[in-house]
Amino acid sequence: MRKVSILGATGSIGTQTLDVIRKEKDRFQLTAISANSSWKKVIDIINEFNPTYVVLTEEKAYREVKEYCSNIGKNTKILFGMKGLNTIASLPEVDIVVTSVVGMIGLVPTITAIKSGKDIALANKETLVTGGKLVMSEAKKHNVKILPVDSEHGAIFQCLQGNEKSSVNKILLTASGGPFRGKKEYELSEVTVDEALKHPRWNMGKKISIDSATLMNKGLEVIEAHFLFDIDYDQIEVVVHPESVIHSMVEYIDGSVIAQMGSTDMKLPIQYALNYPERKNAVVEKLDFYKMGTLTFEKPDMDTFKPLKLAYEAGKAGGTMPAILNAANECAVDLFLNKRIKFLQIGNILEMCMDKFTIQQNYTLEDILQLDSKVKSYVNENFGK
Ligand code: NDP
Ligand code: MG
Repeated sequence: MRKVSILGATGSIGTQTLDVIRKEKDRFQLTAISANSSWKKVIDIINEFNPTYVVLTEEKAYREVKEYCSNIGKNTKILFGMKGLNTIASLPEVDIVVTSVVGMIGLVPTITAIKSGKDIALANKETLVTGGKLVMSEAKKHNVKILPVDSEHGAIFQCLQGNEKSSVNKILLTASGGPFRGKKEYELSEVTVDEALKHPRWNMGKKISIDSATLMNKGLEVIEAHFLFDIDYDQIEVVVHPESVIHSMVEYIDGSVIAQMGSTDMKLPIQYALNYPERKNAVVEKLDFYKMGTLTFEKPDMDTFKPLKLAYEAGKAGGTMPAILNAANECAVDLFLNKRIKFLQIGNILEMCMDKFTIQQNYTLEDILQLDSKVKSYVNENFGK
């Protein structure tokens, strides 16, 4: 039995991870979960999976779950806040930690888990974008596997199996293009939150859905790929592939391209990460090539979807620049979701923050945390009113 701790068990990835565990009950045991405010979902999870530990990061939710468990006489350990997240990231009995919280809030518990020797199934891309160098060097030091859950990185990881890294020519990171593919800037000035949330292929949490609409998600993924696979930005190419059948590809020096395909279902990369290096029976629908029709490919429009271009720039600048970009984006997306700014302002805010904040090439975890709150305060003060 592999014992699993899920940080962010109530979200889109968390819920699909529970689906995988439900289908492989003989192989996985859910030891700990966390959520922010979704206490009703947490109670359902307690009743079905009976985890030993539960963490809530919002106070009201914490009280609700605590009261529920004491009323029914359940001895689940209910913990609170970042301290709780760090506890369930480092439990001696846990084998693998799934990081599926949203945002850079996942950075500290991920590093805690790595330092405790836990393998990580990593969905939380903001962790690698903000602290990639720290995360990867700690993982190496503690001999821990970082198993990508993000579908593109899961695909690349599979395409790399059994090959020499030195023979990789480039990574072809596929992108669906999001809900506004093909649109020009003048058509995007008045798009609504609902329109931006309607992703054509994937059903995901709100933050990543907006990131997909601006193409920032692909930008974050370029930086994520750089750290995960230790590859230069010039060797990472984004290819728009609206059908989302190919989840990414690796081109080798001899001209061979290896692609990973599958249905658009996150349970596939989640299952692969949890079982790695083994493969288990499908928990997703299999591909039907006769129904699939034509697969198409386009270049991304980085002038209209500026965040992707800015992410390449931030990544190449290195140091703390990706953390600056990420903090500005987390805040700008929040403001857009709360209807405080317009869609195109997201890109402008990213650009403004990259100009305003000075890059630091060497950084500690503390530096990143301080910078994150500095950038977020700046954006909130200037655009949140
Ligand atoms: P969701 O918004 O659906 O879920 C986020 C999870 O994190 C929930 O469990 C939520 O709890 C918890 N959470 C939210 N805010 C906080 C906080 N401040 N402190 C602690 N926990 C918090 O997100 P997704 O599942 O869509 O995405 C999770 C991560 O995975 C993101 O980094 C995303 O980029 C990445 N990812 C997602 C994919 C997808 O298909 N959804 C695909 C690839 C990567 P609560 O429910 O209580 O709010
Ligand atoms: Mg992805």
